[in-house]
Amino acid sequence: MTPQRAAILRLLDGNKRHPSAEDIYARIKRKFSGMSFATVYNTLQSLLSAGKLAEVRIDSKRSRFDPGLKPHSHLMCVHCGAILDLPLSRPPLPAGKPAGFRVLRCNVEFYGVCRDCGRKPAAGAKRRTICATEKKK
Ligand SMILES: [Zn+2]
Ligand SMILES: [Zn+2]
Repeated sequence: MTPQRAAILRLLDGNKRHPSAEDIYARIKRKFSGMSFATVYNTLQSLLSAGKLAEVRIDSKRSRFDPGLKPHSHLMCVHCGAILDLPLSRPPLPAGKPAGFRVLRCNVEFYGVCRDCGRKPAAGAKRRTICATEKKK
């Protein structure tokens, strides 16, 4: 176990925010100023292949990392990108699945708006207000 691996694992222990490699790098470089993004990225890849970390692909823009290894499903907020855990539930296969197909894995992903984002005024509305104020000047 390298110090980099240990530091990243410690940072991710119990972390439910599903950080991206960039998020992890931003936090880890405060403690290890010499650690490059490439080192963080490579360390994450080696932790993934060692099975000590799970990769979450619900965010199409970037991989997110999850120390929670028990199989579970995810919800993602399309506004702020927050990813929340859901207990795993496998939906029943529709009748008419190809004969002989055996299901090994199933990922259920939900996209929506989290509670915080649901409370905020829409981003578009906010922008219009700023423009109106600028015009008055
Ligand atoms: Zn949100
Ligand atoms: Zn998760």
